This record gives sequence, C-alpha cells and structure tokens, in this order.
Amino acid sequence: MTGVDRRLARTLAAAAMVAAIATGPRAQEKGAWFGTPVPPPLSDPRQPVMKYDDVFEPVPFQFAHRPGRFDELLDGAALKRDHQRIVGFSLESLNAGDKVWGRRAATPSFMQTIEWTVNEFKSAGLKNAAVESFAVPAAMWVPQSWKVEVAGDPAFGAGTSTVTLQSAFPQPGGATIAGGTLTAPVVFVGRATEADLAGRDLKGKIAVVRVRPEPSLFGSAEQGAAARAVERGAVGVINAIEGPGNALYIDPRFACGKAPCFIVGGQDGWFLEQVIGKAATAGLLDRLKISMQLSAEEKSGLTSANGIGFVPGASDKRIIINAHADGYFQGGDDNASGLAVLVGLARYFAKQPQPKHTLMFVASGGHHGPGNGPSALVAAHPELKSNTLLIVNLEHVAYLDIVRGKTRAPNNTGMTWETSVTDAAKAVGVTNESPLLVDLWSYAPRCFGVATYLSAGPTVSGDLGGYRPLGVPMTQMIQSGTFYHSSGDVFEAVPAEGIERAARFHAFLIEQADRAPEAMIAAGKGSPYKPAASDCTLALGKK
Ligand SMILES: [Zn+2]
Ligand SMILES: [Zn+2]
Repeated sequence: MTGVDRRLARTLAAAAMVAAIATGPRAQEKGAWFGTPVPPPLSDPRQPVMKYDDVFEPVPFQFAHRPGRFDELLDGAALKRDHQRIVGFSLESLNAGDKVWGRRAATPSFMQTIEWTVNEFKSAGLKNAAVESFAVPAAMWVPQSWKVEVAGDPAFGAGTSTVTLQSAFPQPGGATIAGGTLTAPVVFVGRATEADLAGRDLKGKIAVVRVRPEPSLFGSAEQGAAARAVERGAVGVINAIEGPGNALYIDPRFACGKAPCFIVGGQDGWFLEQVIGKAATAGLLDRLKISMQLSAEEKSGLTSANGIGFVPGASDKRIIINAHADGYFQGGDDNASGLAVLVGLARYFAKQPQPKHTLMFVASGGHHGPGNGPSALVAAHPELKSNTLLIVNLEHVAYLDIVRGKTRAPNNTGMTWETSVTDAAKAVGVTNESPLLVDLWSYAPRCFGVATYLSAGPTVSGDLGGYRPLGVPMTQMIQSGTFYHSSGDVFEAVPAEGIERAARFHAFLIEQADRAPEAMIAAGKGSPYKPAASDCTLALGKK
C-alpha cells in the first residue's frame, strides 16, 4: 500500500465512522418505531379484505335452461341465496361472541347449519332426511382471551408506544399462560427451515416465522415450523403470514402444542419484520420485547352431527354426494360454497327422473374441530361398505383467484394483491383414476368453464379422508387459496358465476356416473375406455 493509499483508506474509514455515528440519532429522528408506520387495525371480518366489485366482472357463462329439467334450481342467484344463509350461521356465531367463530364442528352455529340443511332436504322431497348425531371423542380447545403486544421503548424513536397486534390469533392447543403474561425478547427465524435455524439461539425467546401461503396455509412449506421452533427452546411463536390486509387465521399446522403460538396477518407481520430488522441494525434488538397473554380451556363431552337425505334410485347401490358443513370464520369458500351446491343438487335431483342408483346426500360434520363427520358416518352405516359405488365430494368449489398486483405494497410484504376475474384453479382428484371419471372431468373446463389444473390425479385432500375405509372410488375438485382458514374467506369471494358453473358440472358428472356401467366406475387407471363425443352436446344438451 502506498502512502496515498493509506491516507485514502484512513479518510474512508473516518468517513464511515462518522456515517455510522450519524445513523443512530438520524434513525431516532425519523419518529416512533424507527419511522415504521404502525400496523392498521384488524381487517373487518364482516367485510371482504379484497375488492370484489371493481372495473371488471367475473368471467360470465351461458347456460340454456332445458325445458322440464328444473335447471333454474342451479342458477347462480338461487345458489348464492343459500350460500348467504350458510355464511349467516357463521355471522350469528360472531355476534354471539364466540372467539373461534364460524361453523366450527360441534358448536351451536354448526348444529344449526346441519339442521337447516336437513330441513332443506325435507322441503326438496328427499327421503329419510335426518340429523345423525355422534359423540365427539376428543376435547375441543376453546381460547377465552388473548393479546399480543410489541413493547414500546423510547430508544426506538421519540413517541414509540406499545403496539397491539390486532390480528394475532392463538393456534389450537395453546394453554393458559401461567401468571397471565409472557414477555420475552424476539428472534426472527425466516421461514424456519433447517438452514434458517442453523446456529440460531431460540432459547427463552419468542420466534417470528415468515409464512408464505403457497398457494395457501394448506400447502405452505412452513407447516410445523412453529413446533420446531418450540422444540429448539422458543417460549412462543408468531407465524407472520404473507397475506393481504390484516386478517385472522387459524390452522393447527401452525400450532405448537401447549406453548402460546399465534398467527398474525400480513400488515402486522410486515410491521414486526420491519422493526426487528431496524432494531437489529441500531444494535437495539435485545431491547425489543413481545408480550403474550392467553387463557384457554378444553371442553369435552361434545356432540356433533352429520345431515343426510336420499333420492331413491332403481337400485340400492349408492352414489354419495358429500359436502362438509363446518368451517372457520365466514368460511365462504370453505365450505359454504360446497354446501350450497350440495343443497342445490339435492333439490335438482329430487325433480329429475328416478336415477339408476340411490343418491345419498351428506352434509358432513367435517373436520374443523374435534370429531370427523365422514368417519362417524362410516361407523354408523356399515351397509355403506358393500353398497357404495362412488363418492363425490363438493369442497371449495368456487373462489375468485387472488393474485399479486401491479404496485409494491407500502405496509405489507412484496407486491399488493388483486382479485382476478377467474376462479382459482382446482385440483381434480379421482382416487382410482377411472378413465371414465377422468374423461367426465374433462368436460368441467371444456363445457362448463370450470377452472381446473390441466391434469387430474389420484390425490383427494379434504373431507374424503374419513371415507377411505370404504375402499370405493372417490372424486372431487378442490382448491385452497390465499384466504384459506382465514377471516378473508368471505361470502363476496365466491362468485355466483363460479358456483353455478360448479353446480351444473356436478349435476352432469353425477348423471353420467349414474348411467355408466358400474364396472367403468370401478375400473382403474389404464382400463380400456372409449370416450363419448368430444363436443359439449352431451353436457349441455345443445344440438
Ligand atoms: Zn378447511
Ligand atoms: Zn374444506
């Protein structure tokens, strides 16, 4: 190094030091919380987080009414009336002050949903319509009250006062915090992969995990991350969801046993990540503390129910049409959409010529909360094992897709979100990959405009799990979007157009499956099969 180089290096080092000293006071001069805007309140769970009535409309459809076929029973407007009634049971639960509100299995609002459905079955003329109660084997976790605060400290800037994260929602299993409040320093663990956690000391700290709902909490890679953080010594976890607005979320895959683990919405999560980063940069991370409060109890001895009704066929052999009646918050897509289509299809098939097989409609006790509806149904009806031909599940059938938007979000992670004009694409599952059933599904996008993936497969997630012991073919389409298991899954997110497309396609699917040779339903992948006409004449009755 020459003398000139040395002098230059010293000058640069001195300049850097001056800049470093200047950073501290300047950061504080920016105001409270290092100049970070404090998060807004909770997004109103009675209102949509997204705009669903902007410049464009959802993709329209053209379905002709066929004379004498009672097609009007499957009109979008008729289905949306039922959809509103079903979501209404959730809002009654909210108004009643339920903390985990919605149509949570075994709660009064859920039981009312089942009773309403069975009454609709009866009015439609279904036979042997009944509410079938069953004892719930496990206890139900019921949180009573909670609060998550980020403690204010004047060192973070003038006027920094404590911020309550209003979207914080406790996750199932969290026990009452002894002494009422847990206060601990914070550690940000990224997405809590092994790579993120390597060398990090979580002991005695509250870990903040960034959760990417890809495409929803259902598929998120961060499932189980909260539990892993607690195993490594964290005393609590905040799962910060990358999501629009500041919504409530609940999903047991982000819980961590009895430790207090919460999910926060997009804007609370963004704030938390910002102030952790800025506090660390200012050398003040050890002063950043979070306080958690939680009281919860376990309720046992509960009763849940399935609702059933029949359209008798020429044969006793059955096609079961299932939709789970339970759901969290409004549960607009999950699963008021499927239940509304179930009720519409029950009315429709009650008016059609007698089917070959008996159609059994099931509003199931579902799987949100303790007690599995389909498992209880299978246990209560041993005859299903020998006389079931096919199970069709209606779950999350229509939901406007939420996509990343056109500008960077000022107080949330990444780009803003927008709503698209099409339904979110749904995964089609046929457990035995029957070529006939897979071919019938090809009519869904082609003739009915239903948005699906380009391929079908044998996987069927959701409510069908409990039916597995029957060992019969099962089929469905399902999707879990951005607002899955959140207060953003609202009535408005399910377009009349989408729900009608789903209902008309399923009426076609059930009619065709009913008429087909039974062996073709049971025939697995690779069985010889000659598809019917490839145009939409068969589906839409047009010449
Ligand atoms: Zn669900
Ligand atoms: Zn569901």
